[in-house]
Amino acid sequence: MYTTQMDAAKRGIITEEMKAVAAEEQISTEALRDLVAKGQVVIPANKNHKCLKPHGIGRALKTKINVNLGTSKDCLDLDLEMSKVMEAVKMGAEAIMDLSSFGDTQVFRRKLTAECPAVLGTVPIYDAVVYYNKALKAITSRQWIDIVKMHAEDGVDFMTIHCGINKATAERFKKAKRHTNIVSRGGSIIFAWMELTGNENPFYEYYDEILDICQQYDVTLSLGDACRPGSIADAGDIPQIEELVTLGELTMRAWEKNVQIMIEGPGHMPLNQIRANMEIEQTICKGAPFYVLGPLVTDVAPGYDHITAAIGGAIAATYGASFLCYVTPAEHLRLPNLEDVKEGIIASKIAAHAADVAKGLPGASDWDYEMSEARRNLDWDRQFELAIDEEKARRYRAESTPEREDTCTMCGKMCAVRNINKILRGENVDIMD
Ligand code: SF4
Repeated sequence: MYTTQMDAAKRGIITEEMKAVAAEEQISTEALRDLVAKGQVVIPANKNHKCLKPHGIGRALKTKINVNLGTSKDCLDLDLEMSKVMEAVKMGAEAIMDLSSFGDTQVFRRKLTAECPAVLGTVPIYDAVVYYNKALKAITSRQWIDIVKMHAEDGVDFMTIHCGINKATAERFKKAKRHTNIVSRGGSIIFAWMELTGNENPFYEYYDEILDICQQYDVTLSLGDACRPGSIADAGDIPQIEELVTLGELTMRAWEKNVQIMIEGPGHMPLNQIRANMEIEQTICKGAPFYVLGPLVTDVAPGYDHITAAIGGAIAATYGASFLCYVTPAEHLRLPNLEDVKEGIIASKIAAHAADVAKGLPGASDWDYEMSEARRNLDWDRQFELAIDEEKARRYRAESTPEREDTCTMCGKMCAVRNINKILRGENVDIMD
């Protein structure tokens, strides 16, 4: 009856996935269908991911977050990695990207699509290197594309494909003499392969074939930004913008085949450039949802990059980004541990929610209103229940017990909230008694 969510939307069909997303987003199914038809909302939903709880991604909807996980040489325990995935979902991650880089990656990928309800993404280029386990230059163009097909068959909902760095962009990159060259992992792999073999980027050359695979399984493409700036010095430079223009052209080609598209974006970027960058993406890519890593607004805070990214992410999502890739305190330093993952998720959720409030999405500030009400009433249990990180809020209060139960140790009897409540009730306020 239809191939992809976009195909259905263009034919006027409201799918089960659209109904589920509309119910969550306080939007009518018809309005959502029109946004999907225009490519301004994607609903990544591979036909083989049977346990999926669908989510919509687009600037008219709530900002979503992605968490990167997966097996590695240091963590090959599938059950342990799966428990991290489920914990991330419980904490509010709408999407999980499986970036497994060691062992039999297909086993874990299939476990995810069989058991995990989150929207699942992968980067086939990483997996190809592991899967073929041979010299980079010996991998053929056909073999890169075969991995895309394998992931689609396995039920992956969206894939990052680094198709924007073609030979022309690669030449511009070499002339540009960027401060931090290429920092995208996938981008660096495909650029190296192109240099070693002299061939065109296979993801660009055989893009139509990739679109046919995506159409068959309804895989959403996330067009990777190989030239995303890796420092604020490179933000908004020629390679970044040139690649974005190519991604805009590839977006139009995908929409002709009803393949859903997201665009990936910076990276590192100073605060004052973020709004303009979001608007440029929205115009060049005709409103295709923007998926950003960060942006990190300064380069000097290793150990705190969940904060630099949350500052940039909140601004980005206010002005056009729809999807934030979480950044953990371990960014630039090491593989994140469980605590890093948790801090990264919380920071991204704060950025996403702050943007939703700023955008004035229906119902977005209700949560804040309830929290401030509980605060006014000094209702500590309710404050804990509403906290974005309930465990931390409870722990902090328990670690510092106030003299009076209805205050906290910050101001004690000078508690402004308590004293104003008392005076407004006509009661006496004596701070020094
Ligand atoms: S003691 Fe101070 S910080 Fe604590 S609840 Fe009262 S006003 Fe707020």
